[in-house]
Amino acid sequence: MEYNTNSLEENWMPFTGNRDFKKSPRIVVRGEGVHYYDHKGGKILDGSSGLFCCPLGHGRKEIAQAVYEQLLENDYTPPFQLGHPGAFDLAQRVARITPDPMNHIFFANSGSEAIDTALKIAMAYHRVKGQGHRTRFVSRERAYHGVNIGGTSLSGMVKNRETFSGTMPGVVHMRHTWDPKQAFTRGQPETGADLADDLQRICENVGGSTIAACFVEPIAGSTGCLVPPKGYLERLREICDAHGILLVFDEVITGFGRTGAPFAAQAFGVTPDLMTMAKAITNGCQPMGAIAVKDEIYETIINAAPENAIELFHGYTYSSHPAACAAGVAVQKIYEADNTFEKAAGMVDYFQNALYSLEGLDCLADIRGYGMMGAIELKPKGNPGALGTQFQKDLFWRGLHVKFTGDCGVVAPAFVASEADIDAMIGLLREALEEI
Ligand code: PLP
Repeated sequence: MEYNTNSLEENWMPFTGNRDFKKSPRIVVRGEGVHYYDHKGGKILDGSSGLFCCPLGHGRKEIAQAVYEQLLENDYTPPFQLGHPGAFDLAQRVARITPDPMNHIFFANSGSEAIDTALKIAMAYHRVKGQGHRTRFVSRERAYHGVNIGGTSLSGMVKNRETFSGTMPGVVHMRHTWDPKQAFTRGQPETGADLADDLQRICENVGGSTIAACFVEPIAGSTGCLVPPKGYLERLREICDAHGILLVFDEVITGFGRTGAPFAAQAFGVTPDLMTMAKAITNGCQPMGAIAVKDEIYETIINAAPENAIELFHGYTYSSHPAACAAGVAVQKIYEADNTFEKAAGMVDYFQNALYSLEGLDCLADIRGYGMMGAIELKPKGNPGALGTQFQKDLFWRGLHVKFTGDCGVVAPAFVASEADIDAMIGLLREALEEI
């Protein structure tokens, strides 16, 4: 493709230091397999599957072909009062791999939209059950639930919140689950399940009957792979059940095999009431988000309205866009045919051993890991995040992409990465870390 990049000024880039970037841009011009290629001809190993969305690697022809054919056949159908086959096909395929009884799928266009949709589904459910007084939501410190107003309100990252004072009222945060005493723990920490009792305390403080839903990432991803302590998610489930609160798992990163199971819900054996997903649903090839809904919640909302009426006044112009559904179906077919999630599970030990081989480097404050994801946390130098931001840039020029948030880098290789690719990622990381 020919693009004019004579000026970089007009594009206001998201979550980017625009002035700094434009002085020394890192422009990716191609992706293939587990590699990116930059505008100077450099080859960069993708250590974070893009932004955790490309487990099948880049440049998959089957997906591109499906999108191309779909756009020629039927480029756009309004999703309100009309349907197209791909939406029903994809919903069935996703419902097949979500835990039972989560058999209804609502489509959005991003993780952020999935989160705001889940908030509204929770409100709608309680309202039709005569519990419209459940107006509060609980989430957690160090959570990332996207950037729309609902998700910003639920999130627990100060930089994402302090500028935006007009967020949703009525959101209460539990403590996060990271404990410095557990630094370098591999997998789930043995202790810390009692942190779930924060939810019980909140119920005792504001009344459990005023809370609509509790949102958590089963593994907090963006803030550095915070793995839930053993028993923590189970305890949250018990407290939610005791108070009639819906439990929402935000599986935008953990969904589609990242934990070695289709969803973290299955990996940890805890079934939520709603589950948000995005990213790997289309292998990152088309924007898409989705919400899996328990049958009882769907049926309660649907059956409360007259049969010829709209039951939920919510949706997006691009909900279940045909091109996104075509990408999604192509991707789910590959996941099924290649046993992608089982293969990912089979790679976990190799990847985790490689990651934890970095333990002992002076510059590291912690390593955390579960499934095909893990975090390295740098000891900060200067302002928090300054080192991480610089380190991510330096890594790129060394030939490795790793997504950093503050001083935490999250390593999440594509499932098509070979052992040699993983060795190369960890080798490049080690070299760079040794120079800090
Ligand atoms: N929820 C979680 C857990 C995420 O990790 C993200 C993005 O990284 C989002 C929501 C927001 O997704 P999006 O950037 O597609 O809006």
